[in-house]
Parts: sequence; structure tokens; C-alpha cells
Amino acid sequence: MVFAKISTLLHLVINLALLSLSKANALENNASYLYQDAASHPVQEFLVDKKDLNANGGAYTKPTYILTVTWPRVVQYYSPSSRICHEFKPVFVEVARQLRKLSSRIPISFIAVSCAAHSQLCRDLGINAVPHIVGYTMGTTEGQVMKRSNDNLLDPSYVSDLLEISLDMDAAKHKPMDMRSNANAVLVSKNEHTDEPSVFADASQSFIYGLQKIQADFKNPLTSFQKDAFIEWIDLLHWSLPSQWKIHNLINDIRHNYNSIAKKPSQIKLILESHNVPTAPIWNECKLNDASDSGYACGLWKLFHIISIGVSEQHRTVLGGKERISSAHVSDVMLNYVSIFFDCELCQVNFLQSHEKCIIDKCASLSDDVNEVSTNWKELTTWIWYLHNDINKRKLQEEARMSGKTVSKVEEDAIIWPGTQQCPQCRDLNGEWNRIQVFSFLFNEYW
Ligand SMILES: Cc1cc2nc3c(=O)[nH]c(=O)nc-3n(C[C@H](O)[C@H](O)[C@H](O)COP(=O)(O)OP(=O)(O)OC[C@H]3O[C@@H](n4cnc5c(N)ncnc54)[C@H](O)[C@@H]3O)c2cc1C
Repeated sequence: MVFAKISTLLHLVINLALLSLSKANALENNASYLYQDAASHPVQEFLVDKKDLNANGGAYTKPTYILTVTWPRVVQYYSPSSRICHEFKPVFVEVARQLRKLSSRIPISFIAVSCAAHSQLCRDLGINAVPHIVGYTMGTTEGQVMKRSNDNLLDPSYVSDLLEISLDMDAAKHKPMDMRSNANAVLVSKNEHTDEPSVFADASQSFIYGLQKIQADFKNPLTSFQKDAFIEWIDLLHWSLPSQWKIHNLINDIRHNYNSIAKKPSQIKLILESHNVPTAPIWNECKLNDASDSGYACGLWKLFHIISIGVSEQHRTVLGGKERISSAHVSDVMLNYVSIFFDCELCQVNFLQSHEKCIIDKCASLSDDVNEVSTNWKELTTWIWYLHNDINKRKLQEEARMSGKTVSKVEEDAIIWPGTQQCPQCRDLNGEWNRIQVFSFLFNEYW
């Protein structure tokens, strides 16, 4: 009788243990995260692979979202099993949306860290109650705890004060704002918008296509040179693209997973999937033919031009001496991206040669000086415009050579962009470029 009772009790204990183990596994695998769904946009779930962190000697105390100080960050530590955290989720998402909308010049990152999935990290950071919210101003790794009101709310103006950001009521007027019209889509699909934003859609698509190529082509861990080039590229996009671009959500996710991507580039696929990125690219203006990569080069040019204007704009408007990057650095990042990740050998060679030709021709004065006056940042825009035109000429010559022809001066002039009809003011009466007019033409085209 006693034995039967003990055996039943044991059975119950084992069942309970199994139940709690399977609950723990379920929590670990499925229910560990609250912010992984598209509806959580723009809040990013922190998804670093625990195995990678352990392999790094458990480098939990310094996650990238704390160390990367380029922009302000708001980090929420939460528990997926907490009712209060569940109730707070829509509040946090709404605050993130409002602040992203009203802070057009300074992109704020919103990160959610699950203490179920990252228990060691939460322990190391001394988090003993959730939700626990920490704000980081631009340029610092020292966080400030943010308080919720008694009814579990968070006031956006309180958050912006703490992050030392002034809200911009003009944000809605900015052109790429249209990109936000579908909260769940990273890209603007072909017929959704006018011609104007399609320049941005092709650039976004090209960035995504580039990521898809990297995850498919790089079977081994990235070398430290490749990893650095990748990080510099993504950081440049994060820094220079208009903050309203939806693509920032994807960029932020990539930035939070640098180590695991460098170890296993195929991880990019999972991140792309979590953003519902279509596997077949959708090109707008850039599509030349039915080949899947037919718009990639054209979209990449557009992305380069947008970045170059973005760098000039960021220096003009926001930075106040903090976290500047030099024009020479930006050109290096683009050159490295093409040399390592753009899968076209002829293009790589020609791009470098065009850059060298630019140095000889003094086409633009790139500099290592991060404190240049704002007009000097326009040189970067001129540099990439010059290189693009030089490649246009090389391409024409190559095509002529293949068909046994020679290129006339008239044909060569006709390939130079923008044409006289497109921008009559871009050249003076002697046919010389008016750099100021060219910049404003490029600005209108790409910003
Ligand atoms: C880094 C790089 C190197 C390349 N090297 C080669 C090469 O060596 N040989 C080769 O055959 N192809 C090369 N390509 C591809 C080639 O440049 C074109 O991108 C491709 O052939 C598609 O051409 P496209 O007619 O769509 O216009 P693209 O040249 O891709 O241009 C896209 C759009 O940009 C605008 N544009 C054109 N010129 C300029 C400019 N100077 N400044 C700003 N905007 C401009 C126009 O609106 C144009 O429609 C390279 C591409 C890249 C990104």
C-alpha cells in the first residue's frame, strides 16, 4: 500500500518534471520571444545565437546594441511569461513607431531582449524585475533606466527627453516616408507608388539581393577582412540612409547579429525570412531582362548615390562633432564592398581603375578629415557620380570592342549622365561641368 503510494508519487513527480522540462523547452524554442513577429515593427528582437556567445567565452555582458553607439537606443528586457510584459508590448511598439516617425534625422533603435532566451545576459546586467527599460543617448554605452507610469505606460516625450532628441514635426513631409505605407513590407512593390520612390525600392532591393548572394556564396566563416568589410558596409547603410526607410529594421537586425553571421553567413537567410523578404527580387526601374540578377548592378549604383547624399546630409544636419566618418572612409567601404561581395570580376577591376583615374584627374577631393566644413561632404557625391560615368564609358568601349567597333566622341558623350536635355544647367556654355548644379540634380534624383 505504502509502496503503491510512493510509486504513484514518484510517477507524479517524474511527470511533473517532464512537464516542466517540456514547458522549459517549449519556452526556449517557441515562446522565448515576444517581439519576433512583423507586427512588432520597428522593435527588434535580440536574436544572437547563444551557442556563438558561449563560444566567445560567454561575451554576454557586452552585446552589440550597447557597444554600437552611433545612434540612440532604447532596450527593453522582458519575460515572455510575464502578464505585465505582454500588456506592455503594444505600448512599447507604439512608442517606438511614434518616435521613429517624429525623429526624422536621428534613427532610434528599439531592441527587445528576452530574459527567457538570454537569462545569463539579464543576470549579468542585474535585471531583477521586468519589463526593464534602458535608454542610451548617442555616443554612450552608459544606459539610463526609463520608468513606466503607474498604468504601465511610457510617454514618448519623456523618452525623447531622456535620449536628448528633439522631435521633428516635419518628418512626415520627407519624401521616403511613402516607404512606410505598408508596415509589414520591406520593399515597395512595383505598382504601389509613383516613379519617385522606385529609386529607393531598387536600391533597397539591391541591398537585399546582395545579402542573399552573400548567404548563398559564402559557405565558410568570413575572414576577419571580409567580416570588417561587411560590418563597415552595414554600418554605413545604418548611418547614411534616410531614417524613415523601412529597410532600417533589417539593417538593425543584421547589426545585432554580426558575430553569428561572420561565423555562418547562411544565418542571413533566417534574418531575411523573419522580415518576409521575397526570395525572388522585385525590380522597378532597374529590371533589364528576366534574369534574377538583372537589376542588381543598377540598384547598387542607386544605393551608392543615395549613400553619398546621405553622408553629406548627415554631416550637414545632425552630428555636431560626434561619431563622424570621413569621406575617404566611405569611399573605402564602397570599394571594399565591390571588391569582396559584388560578384563581377570585370566590374571589380574597372571600379578600382576608375577610382585610380579619379585620383589622377582630381575628380573629387576625398579626405580623412572628419571635421570638414559641410560643403566638402558633397565631394563624395561627386566621386561616385564620376566613377559611375567612367564605368558607363568603359562599358560602352567594352561592348564596342566585343562587336569589333570603335566608339566615337559623340557616342561617348551621349553615355555621360546626366545628359544636356536632362539637366541643361549642369554644364556651362563651354560644356564644362557646373559641380554645384550637378550636386543639386543628384540631390533631387536620389534624396
Ligand atoms: C561598381 C560597379 C561596377 C561595374 N562595372 C561594370 C563594368 O566594368 N562593365 C560593365 O559592363 N558593367 C559594369 N557594371 C554594371 C553597369 O554599370 C550597369 O549597372 C548595368 O549594365 C546596368 O545598366 P543600366 O543601363 O541599368 O544603368 P546603370 O549604369 O546601372 O545606372 C542606373 C541609373 O543610374 C543613373 N545614372 C547613370 N549614370 C549615373 C551617374 N554617373 N551618376 C548618377 N546616376 C547615374 C541613370 O538614371 C541610370 O538609369 C558595374 C556596376 C557596378 C555597381
